[in-house]
Amino acid sequence: MGYSGFRVIREGLRRRTGWTPVWRDPAPQSEYDVVIIGGGGHGLSTAYYLAKEHGITNVAVLEKGYLGGGNVGRNTTIVRANYLLPGNSEFYSHSLKLWEGMEQDLNYNTMMSQRGVLSLVHSDGQRDAFVRRGNMMISQGDDAELLDREGVRALVPLIDFDNPRFPVYGGLLHRRGGTARHDAVAWGYARAADRRGVDLIQNCEVTGIDIEGGAVRGVQTTRGPIRAKKVAIVVAGRSSQVAAMAGMRLPIESHVLQAFVSEGLKPILDTVVSFGMGHFYISQSDKGGLVFGGDLDFYASYAGRGNLPMAEHVMEAAMTLMPAIGKARVLRSWGGIMDMSPDGSPIIDTTDTAGLFLNCGWCYGGFKAVPASGFATAHLIATGQPHAPAARFRLDRFRTGRGLLDEEGTGSQHNLH
Ligand SMILES: Cc1cc2nc3c(=O)[nH]c(=O)nc-3n(C[C@H](O)[C@H](O)[C@H](O)COP(=O)(O)OP(=O)(O)OC[C@H]3O[C@@H](n4cnc5c(N)ncnc54)[C@H](O)[C@@H]3O)c2cc1C
Repeated sequence: MGYSGFRVIREGLRRRTGWTPVWRDPAPQSEYDVVIIGGGGHGLSTAYYLAKEHGITNVAVLEKGYLGGGNVGRNTTIVRANYLLPGNSEFYSHSLKLWEGMEQDLNYNTMMSQRGVLSLVHSDGQRDAFVRRGNMMISQGDDAELLDREGVRALVPLIDFDNPRFPVYGGLLHRRGGTARHDAVAWGYARAADRRGVDLIQNCEVTGIDIEGGAVRGVQTTRGPIRAKKVAIVVAGRSSQVAAMAGMRLPIESHVLQAFVSEGLKPILDTVVSFGMGHFYISQSDKGGLVFGGDLDFYASYAGRGNLPMAEHVMEAAMTLMPAIGKARVLRSWGGIMDMSPDGSPIIDTTDTAGLFLNCGWCYGGFKAVPASGFATAHLIATGQPHAPAARFRLDRFRTGRGLLDEEGTGSQHNLH
């Protein structure tokens, strides 16, 4: 069933009796050409592009919980292509282009809103660094504008410009960046993959990976064994645990990242703002809630919820940047488990086991990567060759030290990226 404005009106008049389930609920078959472990954004988009770009539809996505219950439905929904380093910049540039056509491609309203992403500048040195980044973005074909203080004030009057410790000098504006509704992205890819014949199997935890003679043969699951010629591990925060089932020790640490939402307010913020002197970012959702977040909880954990010291730290940053926020009540907070790589950049690669593929290391930037990551992982699975924009996301860079993509310039320490 295709979605359109006409259908919405017709179903409204018919008391919504004509809607059908958005995807099937199939029982797992005994064998598939490709099994994808993980029904998050990256697993679902991989399945979709396998079917759409390569005609490979005998595919199962195995999800231990429900589709969209992981990080893809827990993030602060920021989409952007403002990376500095070659390797990252062309990948995120490709991703943003896929975002721009996603709603038409999937026939699904993902509420993509290119409201701009503004990164604030608080010192001369920081301005120089952002000029360099902006030039890199422009040379990649993306957009960047350097704003002075008055330019920022016109866009976001709510900011405390004269904070004595962190005065605002200006900002780098990326107008094509913005937000999208996170779980709608999961649902949109799920529906589109299902319509092309992919089996989406929920409540199906992978408990083992079968390997014989150096090649993958299938997986063990809580719903029985499933044979497969190719298996992709796409489980974000659980990457180390699932890869260990194939005897791999990954250079990934899992850390908790929290997010917060305030009560609904009248429109006060129509762009995404990122504080330059602390890790803090904020936007306003279409429902009116302020959505914001900050740093990791600073210790490795598989707990899907955060702790109070980081909550306090995030609130302090919020009050420093926009003191008026102190009048709003925080309604909810939650955490997600981040797959932190040592250099802050992802991995999309083959492994030493034939037919076994790896997609991980998204740190806290993997939502914006969902389309290009699925595109690249599908390309790798189908052709055996890396997709050009993702060609530098090799696993062996952590073994050899060559080709590290230290975007933040913070060295090889997981929790600093
Ligand atoms: C609070 C927060 C804020 C964030 N903000 C942003 C942001 O603003 N912008 C941005 O770009 N990124 C952001 N991120 C990061 C982004 O959400 C993640 O990098 C991305 O969603 C991870 O990929 P995924 O969607 O595939 O992960 P997930 O949705 O976590 O998918 C992985 C799936 O694998 C499943 N799984 C695990 N083990 C197994 C198993 N053994 N068998 C079967 N299934 C299994 C899990 O249940 C899960 O559903 C944020 C993350 C958090 C937590």
